[in-house]
Amino acid sequence: MDMILERLATGMFASNCYIIGANGEGVVIDPGADAGEISGAVDKLKLKIKYIILTHAHIDHIVSVDELRSILGAKVMLHENEARALANPFYNSSVLFGLKKVFKEADGVLKDGDILEAGGLKFEIIHTPGHTPGGICIKVGDYVFTGDTLFMMSVGRSDFGGGDQDQLMDSIKNKLMILKDDTKVFPGHGTSTTIGHERANNPFI
Ligand SMILES: [Zn+2]
Ligand SMILES: [Zn+2]
Repeated sequence: MDMILERLATGMFASNCYIIGANGEGVVIDPGADAGEISGAVDKLKLKIKYIILTHAHIDHIVSVDELRSILGAKVMLHENEARALANPFYNSSVLFGLKKVFKEADGVLKDGDILEAGGLKFEIIHTPGHTPGGICIKVGDYVFTGDTLFMMSVGRSDFGGGDQDQLMDSIKNKLMILKDDTKVFPGHGTSTTIGHERANNPFI
């Protein structure tokens, strides 16, 4: 797969923002980094960004979404069960940081099994509720972007508003652990891993 992949782990939350593309077109997953920095990286990669996809609507993954949407002219997409969180400081967790942030509405909502296309790449939406009700993972070829659902040697928290521990474990076991061992995992925080490594070593699974 001839794919561009860049990770930016900067900004006030240092969560992972990914730029993925091919053939001059791409997507941004989780704009947690500074909008100017993301758009600068996009320019260097010579990509036209079609979608900004949110794995979920927690503040550390969306802080630059409104600014980045206006710079890039891209469509903001998230799961239908997550849409209300954008404008709700409790569900987007910004209250925890004393920010009370309200974000604009998304341009479209996603469901399990939806596929977005950019630059000839297919971005398959996997609904993985538990960390939040509308959390998603995004599979591109043998790469999967897992947001705050699965981390290297850890799993997401389920004690925020709308979180559910049983649902989280169900999502991980039935939606992620069915993927092939060599599937590369790119989480919302920390370093990348593989499904096989987590299946064998993750103490929470
Ligand atoms: Zn989160
Ligand atoms: Zn997070």
